[in-house]
Amino acid sequence: MNISLRPEIEAIRDEIIDNRRHFHMHPELGLQEYETARFISEKLSGLGMEVSTKVGQTGVVALLRGADGPCVGLRADMDALPIQETGKADYKSVNDGVMHACGHDGHMAMLLGAAEALSKKRDNLSGTVKFIFQPAEEGLGGARYMIDDGVLSNPKVDEIYGIHLWNYQSFGTVGIQPGPVLAAADEFVIKVKGKGGHGAMPHGTVDAIVVSAHLITALQTIVSRNTNPLESTALTVGVIEGGYNFNIISDEVILKGTARSYTEENRAMISRRLQEICDGISASFGAEIEVNYHDGYPPTVNSIVESENVTSAAVKIVAEGVQPPYLTMGAEDMSYYLMEVPGCFFFLGSAPEGERVPHHCSHFDINEEALLVGSSILVELVEERLKG
Ligand SMILES: [Zn+2]
Ligand SMILES: [Zn+2]
Repeated sequence: MNISLRPEIEAIRDEIIDNRRHFHMHPELGLQEYETARFISEKLSGLGMEVSTKVGQTGVVALLRGADGPCVGLRADMDALPIQETGKADYKSVNDGVMHACGHDGHMAMLLGAAEALSKKRDNLSGTVKFIFQPAEEGLGGARYMIDDGVLSNPKVDEIYGIHLWNYQSFGTVGIQPGPVLAAADEFVIKVKGKGGHGAMPHGTVDAIVVSAHLITALQTIVSRNTNPLESTALTVGVIEGGYNFNIISDEVILKGTARSYTEENRAMISRRLQEICDGISASFGAEIEVNYHDGYPPTVNSIVESENVTSAAVKIVAEGVQPPYLTMGAEDMSYYLMEVPGCFFFLGSAPEGERVPHHCSHFDINEEALLVGSSILVELVEERLKG
């Protein structure tokens, strides 16, 4: 491994790690990040930046203005998850049932570290850096609140970047790729209405459980038969609810699931096929089937030039550690910014020594050295973009 941290980040390494531990000990759920926001805005004000609070409800935005030039947006998310921490760290969460189990504590600490280092170089920057601390990434779509509050204008953000700590990658690696890197995450609820009756006398009934069994099986063909095998989609029925007793034919079943895709085309294909299959099964069995399809986060799609910008900066810090990311069908509301502004969302290897603890796990933790790598890349990236 060949890591060259930026000296101005190396100089504040303890502070970056302490900030991450502070956030880790004091996690807050989406749109409730009051203390988190206060901590961030105090730090940023102390650096002499123009700070706006209550952006997108609990978000914080700071501007570092250099000479005339483009505006680079750097985004970190702020929210924690409703999980009781079970790990042993002495910086364990003090808020019962709430935990930073996705790494957003580290995202904030890296961005604060970069803000501190860059604030001392204002005179060398030809352009503006907008530091965007965004609430509620985990499901509530805080990015949309920020965008609705004008975070991408005044000054207009020309390019935007975001990091996710990634325990699926080894420490010392940085996963960067143009195109889609996270999926669209949609949700569906299907109500199957049949006609109940006695388990011994099925004739004349419409068994909602048998209809659902056919439906669940048929839905699998959207991924296996309708998706181009060189592309990726996923469809999961995660909930099946229905029935009364062993000898009763059920009159209603509710199915709930999620559909994932990397492209808008596949996303539209899944929702169309889902409806068609439900209509077909409904006609075959005489059950009434109601589909409720809800669009979640869109796919996260990186632009080519901005991905090259990140690669160029990251190579200086981790050399041959730059690689294609470990991809999943997870989703991110970073996607909303990337629909408005070109940019790149990239993955920073943070797997701790030994066990590879997955994200959203109750004993999640990271290799904190990764924070210094992340801050170093952000500093390098901004300097390269705003060197005038
Ligand atoms: Zn998460
Ligand atoms: Zn996350």
